[in-house]
Amino acid sequence: MRTLTTVAECRTALLPHRLQEKIIGFVPTMGALHEGHFSLIRQSKLHCDVTVVSIFVNPTQFGPSEDFDKYPRTFDDDALALSDMDVEFLFAPDREEMYPRVGGISVNVGDVAARYEGAVRPGHFNGVATVVASLFNIIQPSIAFFGQKDAQQVAVIRRMVEDLHWPVEIQAMPTIREESGLALSSRNRYLDEGSRIDAAMLYRVLENVANVLENHGSVGQALEHGFELARREIPAHSLDYLDVVDSETFQSLTSLEPLGERINEGISAAIIIAARIGGTRLIDNRPVTIKAERS
Ligand code: AMP
Repeated sequence: MRTLTTVAECRTALLPHRLQEKIIGFVPTMGALHEGHFSLIRQSKLHCDVTVVSIFVNPTQFGPSEDFDKYPRTFDDDALALSDMDVEFLFAPDREEMYPRVGGISVNVGDVAARYEGAVRPGHFNGVATVVASLFNIIQPSIAFFGQKDAQQVAVIRRMVEDLHWPVEIQAMPTIREESGLALSSRNRYLDEGSRIDAAMLYRVLENVANVLENHGSVGQALEHGFELARREIPAHSLDYLDVVDSETFQSLTSLEPLGERINEGISAAIIIAARIGGTRLIDNRPVTIKAERS
């Protein structure tokens, strides 16, 4: 594995592969790698000729009171793991390399980021889109792999690529979970044992809502059950949101009806949840893949 730290190095290293029309797979990360990241990398290794993984804790996607400074940084372990997985290139730029000037041009994502994570974390998705746009320009991947775990992020990136006519295929991969149902996340390192048990509740709420929906319940009924369970089981913790959304537009759905045929074309609706558990903000979601007539 070659570790690259500058844009120029990256371009030079990838040019021969591009000229040979190799399929370049790209997995952007902020490091503190876990099985969720590794699952994306395995997909890239499987479907692409060359895999590039980036590690960059992107300052522009953190709010002023968020955890940028204490975000886990485990670069040496990460590099070792990537090398063991036979990743061809690790791109690990520093802040100045990615953002050569303060107040530079940024990407402004539209209404797909208006609610949920976009509302709770103002500016977050503009920061994500800006760094991903920049990374796409540097690496010029054929396919980029993202985790469905960050469903609104996937919607934002898909929208950006579509609206700006980017020649890159976006692949969203399923969420990797612990046995308890807790979605793997670099931020799980902040959780103590008690909070870890509480955090698994997020998935149980998602499953509960999905169960009602899948048993011919309405969106309203399903959410009612979910809120009731959340209130009972996580009273001491704050639930930011629980909702059923169109996974492409991230608009709230009161019925699955408007999805029409799209409901049969893969993941077109998702149950989304966010809560603060033991001081750590966690998000999770579950796709809804039931037949339209059940709405
Ligand atoms: P991050 O390092 O948190 O920015 O995540 C890098 C990529 O890994 C993003 O596309 C995430 O959605 C994805 N990811 C994070 N956690 C998981 C998980 N538990 N399962 C699958 N993908 C994940």
